[in-house]
Amino acid sequence: MPEKVLVYAECKEGKLRRVAFEALGAARRLAGEDGEVHALLIRPGDALSETEALLARGAGTVHVASDPILGVYAPEVYLAVIRAAVDKVQPDTVLLGHTAAGRELAPRLAAAYDAGHVADVTAIEVAADGGASFTKPLYAGKAYEKRSFLPGGMRIVTIRPNNMEAAPVLDEGERSGTAAELSFAVPKLYTAVRSVVRRSGGQIDLSEADIVVSGGRGVRSAEGFEPLRKLAELLGGAVGASRAACDAGYCDYALQIGQTGKTVTPQLYIACGISGAIQHLAGMSGSRIIVAVNKDPDAPIFDVADYGIVGDLFEIVPLLTAEFDRL
Ligand code: FAD
Repeated sequence: MPEKVLVYAECKEGKLRRVAFEALGAARRLAGEDGEVHALLIRPGDALSETEALLARGAGTVHVASDPILGVYAPEVYLAVIRAAVDKVQPDTVLLGHTAAGRELAPRLAAAYDAGHVADVTAIEVAADGGASFTKPLYAGKAYEKRSFLPGGMRIVTIRPNNMEAAPVLDEGERSGTAAELSFAVPKLYTAVRSVVRRSGGQIDLSEADIVVSGGRGVRSAEGFEPLRKLAELLGGAVGASRAACDAGYCDYALQIGQTGKTVTPQLYIACGISGAIQHLAGMSGSRIIVAVNKDPDAPIFDVADYGIVGDLFEIVPLLTAEFDRL
């Protein structure tokens, strides 16, 4: 039977998240030549450019749910929309980003359909016979396991951002997808969002950033983060932090990376004044290239770093910024 895959193409602040395109890439591989790739867009208003972006990257049908109530994320409502899409498409597999919303919605969806669920998948291998295995990290990245689903029942999978290739853009002539409106019934709500207070804004989403410049206790103060911010800004990256830096009040907990913070997998991770505790490594050791700046040559961060600079971050970071600025 050809595989039908439904992707929840999550948006953030009106724009499609990159993980939506990564999920679409995975969906195309899972569906193969004969299968169907469906995408679900949930928007409070106009969805034209997002629909086009999904069609351009190979979505066969983009189901668009648009209603003003969708302007504020409420899990009950979003789940109702996803269920409406599932009932319409009858997919074999549903893919969501392993984002805050994806982590909340996927288990609810799996429970609603008595479906199998694998979370935080970093790789999907599709065998020649169409069978697929899903790799997920365990024990904060110290081990990996490969899971496959037993036949029968729907599969619900969340995908860790920044780990899979985004679906490539197709040539005009190869695009054959269409958009369809999706209707849904608004469920009874038990809670209401009264206000949303943004605590750290303006910067690129940490979990999807290609470059992260991170600071630890060695940064010494909130002002000490300024050189890191300058470097991140120049490189088009985001600023992260260790828990010690957050605990000391140098920055907001929203920036914390690690076991009890965010997991990041950027192309480049620059750790400044971070010792490399196991709990911090849990959140960043999957980064493609790790650069460590630390004045202690024995700091454990150097064990995982691809490049290490032994020195004072307040000298090294401005030097790096000046060098990158010259390029
Ligand atoms: P430190 O370990 O104090 O290291 C500071 C480093 O800065 C040192 O290596 C020092 O040589 C260097 N340094 C100082 N001054 C300079 C300078 N001028 N230039 C260059 N280098 C300098 N931690 C996390 O990060 N994320 C988590 O999610 C997390 N979760 C945890 C969960 C649990 C249950 C527990 C028990 C701990 C958790 N921790 C977490 C805390 C973790 O164990 C470490 O305490 C923390 O990561 C240390 O942060 P740090 O490297 O910034 O500080």
